[in-house]
Amino acid sequence: MKAIAVTPGKKNSVHLADLPTPSVDEIPNGRGVLVRVLRVGVDGTDREINEAEYGAPPAGSDFLVLGHEGFGRVEAVGPKVTQLKPGDFVVATVRRPGRSIYDLIGTQDMTTDDVYCERGINLLHGFLTEHYVDDADHIVAVPKGAAEVGVLLEPFTVVEKGIAQAYEIQRRLRVWRPRRAAVVGTGTIGLLAALVLRLRGLDVVAFGRQAKPYKNAALIEAIGARYVTTSELTVAQGAREFGAFDLILEGSGFSPLVFDAMQGLAKNGVLVLTSVTGGDRKVEVSCDKLNLDFVLGNRVMVGSVNAGREYFEAGVRDMAHAESAYPGWLQSLLTHPVRGLERYPDLFAKLQKPDGAIKIFCEVAPL
Ligand code: BGC
Ligand code: ZN
Repeated sequence: MKAIAVTPGKKNSVHLADLPTPSVDEIPNGRGVLVRVLRVGVDGTDREINEAEYGAPPAGSDFLVLGHEGFGRVEAVGPKVTQLKPGDFVVATVRRPGRSIYDLIGTQDMTTDDVYCERGINLLHGFLTEHYVDDADHIVAVPKGAAEVGVLLEPFTVVEKGIAQAYEIQRRLRVWRPRRAAVVGTGTIGLLAALVLRLRGLDVVAFGRQAKPYKNAALIEAIGARYVTTSELTVAQGAREFGAFDLILEGSGFSPLVFDAMQGLAKNGVLVLTSVTGGDRKVEVSCDKLNLDFVLGNRVMVGSVNAGREYFEAGVRDMAHAESAYPGWLQSLLTHPVRGLERYPDLFAKLQKPDGAIKIFCEVAPL
């Protein structure tokens, strides 16, 4: 079967690979699930892996199959699988258990291991292929009604986890009632964060780089949030204009904005960081002031990566909420389909120069 792969460590090595079709009995204990891949989203992580900034092949392989945002249909299950059956739509989680205590309880997204395995990213092949197999533990069912937007579930879970973690942390406050939220960055993560925060009933201001007219700004406004251009208003200034933010989610990919966001937090507020920034950028900051405000205002900042199974399940439920509150909105993020694995050059050309694209994805097979 065909797969889109890279040679990790070699720039622009994306190519079509040929792999044997896997089977359910590759997974021990009868827990295997064979999935026919239907759609796979791509993002900055895939671009960075192809630029040789990131990523490693599985042991014994000199290539890595890309793709961590998969969506597919179950084709076969092992004898011990009861919760899934052929025909079910599914999404697989990304990270696989390592050795830390967090991994032992199934929360490998919280691992303290230095080396961790992520499908399509690090040490494990991904989903940009025709079929994959995995243990049923790592596969989450998606209801038929959400099939059309199922390929958005993995990025959605990054946001679900970040926001759930913020609420969990804020239980420290006993009576926390957030009203105002901000989202920094208006790519897929920023848009999905604005959506989930609106579903939680918050007033949302989204800070993006581009001036209006801008498709993503219109999408922000369509869910009753406000769009602000960072060149006109910093997050700190936005906090003075609209009121300080009880919760901020940073997902711009541009780390200097973290320090701007820190200054937009309300007293007792929480700032969630989700950008994976591989560079070594440096900025000068007013550290006395930043520190003082955090201390005197009991503020919190937390990093959040990846997502475990519980956030995939919560994500499915929130996708249903989103569809009933804002019909068609999620689907309008699916701007750039590329049909067929063999069209990987188009997929990566688009990723290189996304002008206007929100979610770029490969249609491996029809739904
Ligand atoms: C993925 C996460 C992953 C992270 C770091 C992101 O693009 O969505 O699942 O943990 O990259 O590897
Ligand atoms: Zn990703």
